[in-house]
Amino acid sequence: MTITNQQLFERSQQFIPGGVNSPVRAFKSVGGTPVFFQRGQGAYFWDVEGKSYIDYVGSWGPLILGHAHPAVVKVVQEAVQNGMSFGAPTAAELEMAELLCTLLPSIEQVRLVSSGTEAGMSAIRLARGFTGRSRIIKFEGCYHGHDDALLVKAGSGALTFGNPSSAGVPAETVSHTLVLDYNDVAGLEKAFSELGNEIAAVIVEPIAGNMNLIKADPEFLAVLRKLCTQHGSLLVLDEVMTGFRVGLQCAQGIYGIQPDLTILGKVIGGGMPMAAFGGRRDVMQCLAPLGPVYQAGTLSGNPVAVAAGLETLRQIQTEGFFEKLSTRTRQLTDGLVAVARKYGVRFSAQSEGGMFGIYFGENPPKTFTEVMACDREAFNRFFHAMLAEGIYFAPSSFEAGFVSSTHGDAEIEKTLNAAERVFEQGL
Ligand code: PMP
Repeated sequence: MTITNQQLFERSQQFIPGGVNSPVRAFKSVGGTPVFFQRGQGAYFWDVEGKSYIDYVGSWGPLILGHAHPAVVKVVQEAVQNGMSFGAPTAAELEMAELLCTLLPSIEQVRLVSSGTEAGMSAIRLARGFTGRSRIIKFEGCYHGHDDALLVKAGSGALTFGNPSSAGVPAETVSHTLVLDYNDVAGLEKAFSELGNEIAAVIVEPIAGNMNLIKADPEFLAVLRKLCTQHGSLLVLDEVMTGFRVGLQCAQGIYGIQPDLTILGKVIGGGMPMAAFGGRRDVMQCLAPLGPVYQAGTLSGNPVAVAAGLETLRQIQTEGFFEKLSTRTRQLTDGLVAVARKYGVRFSAQSEGGMFGIYFGENPPKTFTEVMACDREAFNRFFHAMLAEGIYFAPSSFEAGFVSSTHGDAEIEKTLNAAERVFEQGL
């Protein structure tokens, strides 16, 4: 007899808070029992009950090549055989650093870490150390990991649970964090005119993926760049989600924006715990052991993670990779919009590269307020109906979705057919 998702969830709740190791996994926003997975291959994964799903979460972004890509599995196996961690430099991590600096011209030096949270936290400390200033600016609904200073009006799980700012973060710790509205140029100009010379850094998701998906207006990012330069503040682009997901040149290439620092994660680790922060050489050289800003990690540059990441970055440089991925993703979003229209459902969608947003609202939102105005209940019903059909979307209306290179015509067709049945029955 197979074990059920329900049984595992009940047992998990005894030993793990909420039964999960990261909050959104608990399905609290959409209700119901989380799915416990045991195996993945390409665009599909299977739960403990043997049911298969087409995966549009891709481990929240990293799996741009799908599950268990043979080339990635091979290099990981080889790396493991040679030792899982050295706590000392390796040639492979140098290769990763060189590759990141080559692919992203704004990065002159880079340091590897193990999670996006670490990358964001380190970039902020570095920006403060470099500028000698304390204040930082973030935007409502953007999520940069769960570092205290950044966990203010954050998106993703924080937003999903209605606690965008966490308990346990002392007011003094966030007193230097100024939260502004995304895509609000006037708000930015006002903040800089009042406090510009005290601002160490502005951190922003150039395409926000933690309040569903919201694209920055090009003008918003251009003004942000200009104001940072004028006031000696560092512009930190959080490309943990967008990096090598929206295109080989990342969001900064698409927008033509040169950040002072970039944080990366997800795709660059190919499904293993790896992330990075990097940028201007003069700034990065403030890091220990060269400079006074301390930052470290036992598993930083882990050889197994680096192997998975390098192979993933090798694969996505194949000619036409992103054109194909973008086309496939648009096929999904255009298809869903067409089916929804047919049945008179208020629905919209958009994508960039292999990242997409679906909204139960007339048009894709441009602001946090517009995201909040979308119909969450309709999303929740859609989510569960699709889940029953074997289509796994992110279990929250505040998350972006992801398509991998292993999603083919067949998977898109199956998804659209399922959506057709769901919309036809009515939400
Ligand atoms: N920044 C962004 C834009 C993210 O989407 C995330 C994670 N979803 C993070 C930072 C934090 O990364 P991690 O979960 O690896 O700590």
